[in-house]
Amino acid sequence: MGKLKAMPPRVAGMAPRVRAMPKVADRFYQSPEWAEARRLQPNKWCAICGSTKRLILDHKVERKDGGADLDPLNLEWLCLPHHNTKTAEAKARRARGGR
Ligand SMILES: [Zn+2]
Repeated sequence: MGKLKAMPPRVAGMAPRVRAMPKVADRFYQSPEWAEARRLQPNKWCAICGSTKRLILDHKVERKDGGADLDPLNLEWLCLPHHNTKTAEAKARRARGGR
């Protein structure tokens, strides 16, 4: 019978990964007020490309940046890809300390 070799530790050398924050559902997005805003917001197509698929009601000025929660003038529909792009840009801007 062969000698059992010690298994090399598989995780050795792997950079410790920073865990993404668990996605906490923001209470706001569960609120009846938000549901109502979504129901009332007209022009249900992406404000950028016109797609009517996978729309997300977006805050033009993000809530984190002080945008109004429920003001229809601060809301517009975006398709998921455009919403993700915009959100990533806003996040990057905040990370740079800009506005
Ligand atoms: Zn779009």
